[in-house]
Amino acid sequence: MTVCNVCSADLGPPVYRGGERTSLTTMNKVVPGQTRIFHCGVCDHVQTEELPDLERYYAEEYSINEAGIDDDQLYEIRDGREIYRSEHQAAVALAKLDLSGSPKILDYGCAKGATLRRMVEASPNVEPYLFDVTDKYQAYWADFPKPAHRASHRPDPAWSGTLDAVMSFYALEHIPRLSEVLAEIRTLLRPGGTFYFIVPDMYANWADFIVADHVNHFSRGSLTVMLERAGFGNIAIDETAHAAAFVVTGKATGPDTQTAEAIPGSKAAVDQLVGFWSGARARIAEQERSLDGDARVAIYGAGIYGNFILSCLARPERVACFVDQNRFLQGTKLNGIEIVRPNDAPAGLGAVFVGLNPLNARRIIASVDSLQARGLPFFFLD
Ligand SMILES: [Zn+2]
Repeated sequence: MTVCNVCSADLGPPVYRGGERTSLTTMNKVVPGQTRIFHCGVCDHVQTEELPDLERYYAEEYSINEAGIDDDQLYEIRDGREIYRSEHQAAVALAKLDLSGSPKILDYGCAKGATLRRMVEASPNVEPYLFDVTDKYQAYWADFPKPAHRASHRPDPAWSGTLDAVMSFYALEHIPRLSEVLAEIRTLLRPGGTFYFIVPDMYANWADFIVADHVNHFSRGSLTVMLERAGFGNIAIDETAHAAAFVVTGKATGPDTQTAEAIPGSKAAVDQLVGFWSGARARIAEQERSLDGDARVAIYGAGIYGNFILSCLARPERVACFVDQNRFLQGTKLNGIEIVRPNDAPAGLGAVFVGLNPLNARRIIASVDSLQARGLPFFFLD
């Protein structure tokens, strides 16, 4: 029996099973084993069965943005300017948190602490606290703009009950034992302090449904249940401040005493995701069959969607390159295939497979002039 990470209900049978060879992770690795995904009928949580060797995976392979302090994930290109994820996260947190006085703010699971660093640069009154389960980021913490309180492995017990805000960016989706972590964060906060966190919104980025290392896929319902069970109230869930993410705040004041308004379930949206991913493999096969025998192709997007396309192709050797606008990816390889700028895609391609979030793919591709000018067919996932 598989039980819900949020409400402990029996989840019943899975709603989706991936292919044997197509379990993909956030690090874009293909891992053995089948992805099995469940939907909780009680709290509306969607849950992926844990990878069999999750701990080894994190120890050896999970290394997002380890290349250097400036390395970051591209958030968006706005009016021709690249905006990176930590920059946007800092701006949203600064707008949403109360920064009066000298607020003690902890980045819980901070890695390099890039977001809190930017917040302290913008608001020098912030008292920074850094915690991560590993000690491998300490070199990045040492030269913070102002000295930070630091702890590795476990938070410093002296911080208990004193912090004005605890922040967590893209962590809770990886954690099966949610109630333990929520209880620890609740203990660190002063009464009335704020837990502020960001988790992926799979309803806005469908790739989050299939990545095998995201065990939790939250909904408004399951976020609310999780926080109330951990003793948080005044819950606010914002789906618009950060693309494809829930930005959530809860106060360490106990659950709201008024009955929360009924939160619509997401069964229809989950059914749509199941249908999309179940059909994607067949659509890619059909697109591939429509190509001339010796045609070479490019895959636009070197993320999860692009890697999924590659894993579905009968003849992956015909892929000349991945194309991606993220300059940190350009010049590197994914599964042995070079990642290039749109301008540098070779001449004579037969088609471009578009490995982007289907909700944005057509808009993004329409804006890539150097590929549009070639008159190539674009194959979309939906
Ligand atoms: Zn549940």
